[in-house]
Amino acid sequence: ATPTAVMVATGVGANNGVLIKGGDALERGQKIKYVVFDKTGTLTQGKATVTTAKVFVRMDRGEFLTLVASAEASSEHPLGKAIVEYARHFHFFDDPSLTQNAANHKTESTVSGWLHDASNFSALPGRGVQCFIDGKRVLVGNRKLMTESGITIPPHVENFVVELEESAETGILVAYDDNLIGVLGVADPLKREAVVVVEGLVKMGVRPVMVTGDNWRTARAVAKEVGIQDVRAEVMPAGKADVIRSFQKDGSVVAMVGDGINDSPALAAADVGMAIGAGTDIAIEAADYVLMRSNLEDVITAIDISRKTFHRIR
Ligand code: ADP
Ligand code: MG
Repeated sequence: ATPTAVMVATGVGANNGVLIKGGDALERGQKIKYVVFDKTGTLTQGKATVTTAKVFVRMDRGEFLTLVASAEASSEHPLGKAIVEYARHFHFFDDPSLTQNAANHKTESTVSGWLHDASNFSALPGRGVQCFIDGKRVLVGNRKLMTESGITIPPHVENFVVELEESAETGILVAYDDNLIGVLGVADPLKREAVVVVEGLVKMGVRPVMVTGDNWRTARAVAKEVGIQDVRAEVMPAGKADVIRSFQKDGSVVAMVGDGINDSPALAAADVGMAIGAGTDIAIEAADYVLMRSNLEDVITAIDISRKTFHRIR
């Protein structure tokens, strides 16, 4: 393509909220064979919602939720934020012992005044969070977190988590003082356009793949909903780039679509990195295409623009 054609294509992209970082990026777009999607925040809305809170010990429900929220209070993760939000709502509005006046009064109290002090907070990527409350260790996260921390998961708890996962939810386990005390169910719905976009890619001869740090059962259930057959789950943040490289082995051109800090190594490893929406600066930096509208349809728009520019319309 001539420099003029590249300029025109870049302009068409910009008008559609697709920022194309140069002629090479534009040229690679038409050769894409695989599009690897991150799950959370890319295929899904990334607005996780707590659906279930199950306590397995003799602990008040409100106290359980306050404990979990206190542990997640410093978390940047969408799951952590969803948990704090749910507990806050329960604390201020769903407590039947409160009169409306008392509820109003509590709402006006300091934003985090209802939480316990948590010390030595650490976020463990791909696993969850750990902290100490009143000298007791609190862990909130997945099985891997529990297993690595020496916490036993009793069969009735495991069964409960499996049920959540089979309905496309993520089960978050909670341990207090090294005992498993409860589980939260978190749902994260697909973006409205996800199914149509996956279908569209297949029609264009492009193979969709899903990669996630989430567990296999939830991942399979979500992949089934969205129509993706090729899934890689329980991938640690650093492992996403390896997944990209495995698809590149036979010389295929691979695109990665992602949003988070965790995704930037994979965006960089891909032949075509596509950062979605108001993603993090570091993801935008690592990308070849930035899809400003956070709409997955723009993955197709991007490939279309490239194909048309290089007269490769199938
Ligand atoms: P994804 O690849 O889907 O964006 P992540 O790698 O960010 O997922 O997280 C993988 C898994 O680690 C989550 O599904 C969850 O089980 C666990 N996890 C991560 N952060 C947290 C947190 N703050 N609280 C609870 N669980 C967490
Ligand atoms: Mg993500």
